[in-house]
Amino acid sequence: MTNLKAQPIRMDQQNLCCVCESKLHGREDKAFCNYKCKNLYHADKRRKRNHGYIKQTSNRLNRNYDILCYLAGPNVEKFCVNRLELSRLGFQFNIVSGYDYNKFGLKLNVYEFSWYMNKNQNVIIYRNKEQNDVSPYVYKRWERKMKHKESMT
Ligand SMILES: [Zn+2]
Repeated sequence: MTNLKAQPIRMDQQNLCCVCESKLHGREDKAFCNYKCKNLYHADKRRKRNHGYIKQTSNRLNRNYDILCYLAGPNVEKFCVNRLELSRLGFQFNIVSGYDYNKFGLKLNVYEFSWYMNKNQNVIIYRNKEQNDVSPYVYKRWERKMKHKESMT
């Protein structure tokens, strides 16, 4: 298993800061000499995580989510949308946050939204009611974002 917690560099009897390699004093599990090194370490970790496949996939998933929020509007529990319309907006059917099997078939989820896998031209999208209602402010933001994206295509 990967150790997720930052570790000091262990040199003989001395622990060194894992960023700048200066000597550490105090607790045995301390990994940084000060908060600056700690911040640098975490910023670097974020940067490394935020590239390539991870970034590409999370961008696609976010885009799918934005599209569904935009189409649903605030506080809608269920809506019907044409597959072509979804594709036109840039929705990618293979990018989901999870799936379930139930008596109706394969249910795909993008966060609180879900729909069933089928070949119908119209897709019925459900929004999980357990989620809190979306504030009109948040909806306005999605709307602006999507209008902007649409204006660029
Ligand atoms: Zn340091």
